[in-house]
Amino acid sequence: MVVFALAVLGLLIGSFLNVCIYRLPRHESLAFPASHCTSCNRPLSWYENVPIAGWLALRGRCRTCQAAISPMYPVVEAITGIVFVSGYLIYGLTPVLIPRLLFACAMLVLFAIDLRHHLLPNAITVPGILVGFAFSLFLPPGWRPSLLGIVIGGGVLFAIAEAYYRVRGVEGLGMGDVKMLAMIGAFLGWKLTLLTLVLASFAGSLVGVGLIASGRGGMKLALPFGTFLAVGAIVAAVAGEPIVAWYASFYQ
Ligand SMILES: [Zn+2]
Repeated sequence: MVVFALAVLGLLIGSFLNVCIYRLPRHESLAFPASHCTSCNRPLSWYENVPIAGWLALRGRCRTCQAAISPMYPVVEAITGIVFVSGYLIYGLTPVLIPRLLFACAMLVLFAIDLRHHLLPNAITVPGILVGFAFSLFLPPGWRPSLLGIVIGGGVLFAIAEAYYRVRGVEGLGMGDVKMLAMIGAFLGWKLTLLTLVLASFAGSLVGVGLIASGRGGMKLALPFGTFLAVGAIVAAVAGEPIVAWYASFYQ
């Protein structure tokens, strides 16, 4: 029963995340106008707004103008549903479930926007730092690790971005990445933030090398680092404690 309720809630929130993913980079209001076809502007009827089923019923095309509707919409809804159910299975109905679900939703939105537009909106990262720290006053990781996470996460990436810019003369990392890692620090604490950075760099290198090897990208191809940070942060949030403990065991 709880699983079913959380799955439905996840699908509905996934629908809202789609609105964020589409509108935030375009600086459009999240509330107005109501959902409409982005091609012919026709407002959607209620059944077209039903997560996943609406897209399936339309077979991915607008009823009036026949424009293709991105399969990203039902995919984001399905992932959000899975995130909500997994969150419940991992954390149970405990207070920490709330910041963790909020965090996962933010990472999903940042992942999608950075992948498509190569930007990480301040509208998510800046409030994210504050909200993450506020939750950490009462919940894990606690305010000290959270504050250190903000300073170390933001600071390390800022230093790397500065060094890269001085050496190469081009911007390799944006301030968006810096604020995003500070936000990750606020929610997860400094240890899991450093782990996120390691995981993201590793995944980024693997994908980068893969793209170069397959001839689909040169050495200068700019991969959106925020997408890798999002994936790294989710892995760190779910599996980070055992990984950090395993790593620390070598130094005891
Ligand atoms: Zn249309």
